[in-house]
Parts: sequence; C-alpha cells; structure tokens
Amino acid sequence: MNEKTTKRKLVFATNNAHKLSEICAIIGDKFEILSLNDIECFADIPETADTLEGNALQKAKYVYNNYGLDCFADDTGLEVDALGGRPGVHTARYAFPDRYDPEANTEKLLQELDGKENRRARFRTAIAYIRGGEKYLFEGVVEGEISTEKRGDKGFGYDPVFIPENTGKTFAELGVEVKNQISHRARAVAKLCEYLAAEEK
Ligand code: IMP
Repeated sequence: MNEKTTKRKLVFATNNAHKLSEICAIIGDKFEILSLNDIECFADIPETADTLEGNALQKAKYVYNNYGLDCFADDTGLEVDALGGRPGVHTARYAFPDRYDPEANTEKLLQELDGKENRRARFRTAIAYIRGGEKYLFEGVVEGEISTEKRGDKGFGYDPVFIPENTGKTFAELGVEVKNQISHRARAVAKLCEYLAAEEK
C-alpha cells in the first residue's frame, strides 16, 4: 500500500508556506499535513476573537465544522509591556486596521516606544487543535525586548526589532536556524508535536 495513504491526515489551517515547511519538518513523517489549499478551502476564515486562543480556535473550528477533518490552527501576537500588552491580538494589523504592512508596523512600534526605558516584550503563539470535536490548546512564548532601531535582514514581520532574551541580537540578525530553535511558534509546535506523538502510542 502507498505509505502516504496510511498516514493520519491533519489539516494545518494556513497557506503560509513558511509555517507549513516548519511543521512538516517536525511532524511531516508521521502525519500527512494538509494546507487550506490542499482541502480546497479558499474562504477568508474569520479571525474576530479578542484573544489569540480565540482566533486559533475559530480557525480550527471552521475547518472541522465545514470539512469534518482533524485540524490545528495558530495565532501569534507581540505583547509589549510599556504598551499594556499591545499590539497583542492586533499584531498583524497594528499600523493599519485594514491591511498587513510589516514596515509600517515596525516603524509604529519604534515610534510608540521612543524614549521609553521599559522595552520588555514577548511573542506568544497559541495553537488550537481539534480532534473528533475535542479541543486542545498549546502555547509557546519567547521573552525579549524591542530594539531602538531595526537590525538584520533575515526573517519577516517584527524580526528586525525583536531581541530574544540572552541573545543580544534581533531575530533578523540571528537567522532562521537559531530562530527556529527558540521561537514562540517553535515552542508551541513542539508542545503540539509532543501531544500528537503521545496520541499515536
Ligand atoms: P500570525 O498569527 O502567525 O499570522 O502572526 C500575526 C503577526 O505577528 C504576523 O503578521 C507578524 O506581523 C507577527 N509575527 C508572527 N510571528 C512572527 C515572527 O516569528 N517574527 C516576526 N513577526 C512575527
């Protein structure tokens, strides 16, 4: 029998190639990971909750309810202490509520923190997993601080201004290999993978 057909199918509610390759590298040999494109889900899945967990659940539930497939979804936010936890759930659309503009987002962040001594922040990822209607949540956090200027040219989003603790370098300077060992998403994914592995035993 074709080995692929024997693997359990699991939808990752994303079309983000970077996230898909990250997760496939970790659990791809045990599961057949399907993207939204793979299941022909072309809808703009609503993300209207006021928490990361709520948004992740909303996306996973959408797939489970409409396609009947086990699924997981993620949502990430940057929480800045001096801004009372903002941008948080609004991280992607921090500068403009109607669109994603990573350049404008980092500029706005540097401006809002201009002259502030407390630059502590963290990236937090929530992953929601639904199997047979049961819901499970996993979290990954990386503590750090916001730099005073952009540094480095690797990565995406806020990587040029986020310095994970004990590194002295921004994610954009550290590069993807180091980042994938310590990042919020990697930590949340590791917890999900641990759970999935235990489920298969
Ligand atoms: P998402 O929930 O993974 O789409 O993340 C929401 C937003 O957080 C993204 O649009 C990025 O602006 C930001 N973000 C998430 N993960 C990272 C990261 O690893 N580095 C930099 N920015 C990130």
